[in-house]
Amino acid sequence: MRVGIIGGGQLARMLILSSPDTEFIVLEPKIDNSCSDLGVVILNYDYNDKEALRKLSSLVDVITYEFENIDDGVLNEFKSKIKPGIDFLKVSKNRFKEKVFAKDYGLKTLLFYPINSQDQIKDLIFYKKIDYPFILKVNSGGYDGKGQYIIKSKEDYLKIKYNVSYLLEEFFNFDYETSVLVTRSTLKQIYFFPTPINYHENGILKKSLVLAKKNLINSKLKKIIKKILIKENIIGTVAFEFFVKNKELYFNEMAPRVHNTGHYSLDGCNVSQFRNHILAITSRKIIKPKLLKKTIMYNLLGNEINTSFILNNVYRYDYKKKEPLQKRKMGHINISDNNKKNLIKKFNEIKKFLEEENV
Ligand code: AMP
Repeated sequence: MRVGIIGGGQLARMLILSSPDTEFIVLEPKIDNSCSDLGVVILNYDYNDKEALRKLSSLVDVITYEFENIDDGVLNEFKSKIKPGIDFLKVSKNRFKEKVFAKDYGLKTLLFYPINSQDQIKDLIFYKKIDYPFILKVNSGGYDGKGQYIIKSKEDYLKIKYNVSYLLEEFFNFDYETSVLVTRSTLKQIYFFPTPINYHENGILKKSLVLAKKNLINSKLKKIIKKILIKENIIGTVAFEFFVKNKELYFNEMAPRVHNTGHYSLDGCNVSQFRNHILAITSRKIIKPKLLKKTIMYNLLGNEINTSFILNNVYRYDYKKKEPLQKRKMGHINISDNNKKNLIKKFNEIKKFLEEENV
């Protein structure tokens, strides 16, 4: 089976590397991209170029995508070939729609409102529906903390331009963040990956820790997520992110694709999120994920990618981006060890290397 991937970034790279038994064709306008050294066919056209999408579709059996900000209108023509699916993509690329979607399925959410103008915020405050601080997030197109503003006073929200729609959300003092990575196959299998604990800095994921085999999610939550996958006919690996407070999970957002918080599975599990995604969308049996080793995934941002170190059980992934851009994800490392003390020690050694070389 041939797989088409829209986007030639790091997720496409890891999907391709996970499956040497599968043929891939990538649609990516940039000549220098994260897949250009992998020996796969790359169509250098815009993601929304209808002719290029038609060409891609004619060459492959199934199409997947590595990011959600694609024009779903163009994709409609190829709907039956697209996995995890267009309807789920449409919902998850709009923050307001995804919160309503999650709430309707019974997931707990924070307090949220759709916003198109300053006056709406004024009213919410006047009628005591929301209090400072709160967060404004652009409804679509934002990522890694971009398009997000913490509002602590009237001055803060008066500064913002309301030429796009926003989601207003209460600011939440959570204990930690987690994510549920799950794959559904065409053979009706649904398998969950062990849940990581995720730490963000300035809106960007910095590290994910998987130290325990026990899942953080309870059976009620699993049931809701299974229901979503079945009812929405989702095939492949997708991710749901949550804030956790007093062991309660509050839905934050979802991704209709493999996710940064699942990169630990490349070395921590018997099967990676990437491999299971490809197996699922090519109608093969997926593998039940098991944690083999406690793992810490640490994102390499900007110049951190240029720091080299060789340590046992430390796996370094370079996304082969052309130039290291500040605060952009350039690669990641996975540190695995069954002994928690050794794992933390190794992690601290690596952090020291990174800090010394990137002052
Ligand atoms: P998002 O793009 O919505 O996932 O936001 C990126 C990160 O910003 C999250 O992973 C949190 O660390 C932080 N964040 C987002 N929404 C909130 C919130 N309502 N309260 C506190 N922190 C938040």
